[in-house]
Formats: sequence, structure tokens, C-alpha cells
Amino acid sequence: MLRSPIEELERKKYFLGNWLKQRQIDIPLIDFVVFAYNNELLIENLAAHRIAFSYEVPNKLRALEIDASILNENQVQQLANELTHAHRVFEPHSLNQKYQLSLEELEMGVTCHGCNRLTMQWGQKMWQCQACGYQDKASHLNTLQEWYYINGKQLTNRQFRQFSRIHSRHTAKRLLANPYTELSGKNKSSIYQLSPKLLTLPTNLSL
Ligand SMILES: [Zn+2]
Repeated sequence: MLRSPIEELERKKYFLGNWLKQRQIDIPLIDFVVFAYNNELLIENLAAHRIAFSYEVPNKLRALEIDASILNENQVQQLANELTHAHRVFEPHSLNQKYQLSLEELEMGVTCHGCNRLTMQWGQKMWQCQACGYQDKASHLNTLQEWYYINGKQLTNRQFRQFSRIHSRHTAKRLLANPYTELSGKNKSSIYQLSPKLLTLPTNLSL
């Protein structure tokens, strides 16, 4: 499912080029694939000049040679605003539709970012991995993100408990009260709407 990052880069560059052309802006585009994490990947010189980790970006930008200024400061600001305005959060098709999965076919549980197993268990105040001891307060946000990718943007307290292997309805309710959910309906018919902002959180998924 993971496309070649260089192919993806070319595709994005093409679309950005068109977007700029529509605004009669002609500027050179210099591209990098930037990875947010440097602990999960080993890259052996694969077009290395076009791949960077996020901490390298400031230096890469500083190293660029500027021949002549094309846009003035105001124009750059205006373009930045327009780009932000035109940004749309990526809404994926849910994977269960795409692959016709049923929930029963999936392994349930909250992923440990220490050892990548579904072995996190909620204690009093945080998640703790039963296999490696890793602790995290917010692991359930990644679980909600996984749910979003797999099932879409709605879930019930019961579904959340099943998916994250939490027994208590009250614990589930407490964990579901976070900035990425909105509760609609009352009592048994209440449903949580998940915010697409969940998809912008760092993820362990290869999508
Ligand atoms: Zn672990």
C-alpha cells in the first residue's frame, strides 16, 4: 500500500505546479521527501539528496542558493495564506469497504509504540504495555486514528471498548472525551464523531 515516496513526490509537484500556474505564478519547485521519524527507517542512499528527516529541513533550506528574488515578501505571505486556505484534509475511503473486512477478522487492542504489539492495557492514568512495560497517556488516540482508517469517522462507546479491549464503559467514556471526538445523541444511541484532525497525528500505520 505504501507507494514509492519519489513517485508520490513527483505527483505532488505536478499538482502544485498546476495550482501555481492557475495563479500565474512561475517559480522553481525544489522537492524533498521529509520523514517525521528517524527511528523507524533505514534508508540506504536511495536518491538520498531528495530524502530528508524533519530535523534536517532548516539546514537544507539555508543551503539553497538564491539567484534572484521572484516574489516580494508580501507576495510570499499572500501565497502562503492561499495555500493554507486551499488545504484539504485527506479523507480516505475506509479500509473495511475497500477490502471488505469485517471487524471480527481484525485483531483488537491498543498498539504499543515501544514494541508494536497490541498489548497496551489501561491502568489508572495511563496505558502500559504488558509485554515491554512502555507507558503512554495517549495511545488510544492512535487507536481512534486506526478506527478512522478502517471503519470511518463514527464509533460508539461499545465499539471503542471492543476495539481497544477496555472493559469499563466509564473508562471508555473518559478516554473518548478528548479534543478529537464530538458526542452526538444521548444514552444508548449516542455516537462519537471523529475529527479528521486525528489523521494528522503521527501514525504507526503504513498507508
Ligand atoms: Zn510494548
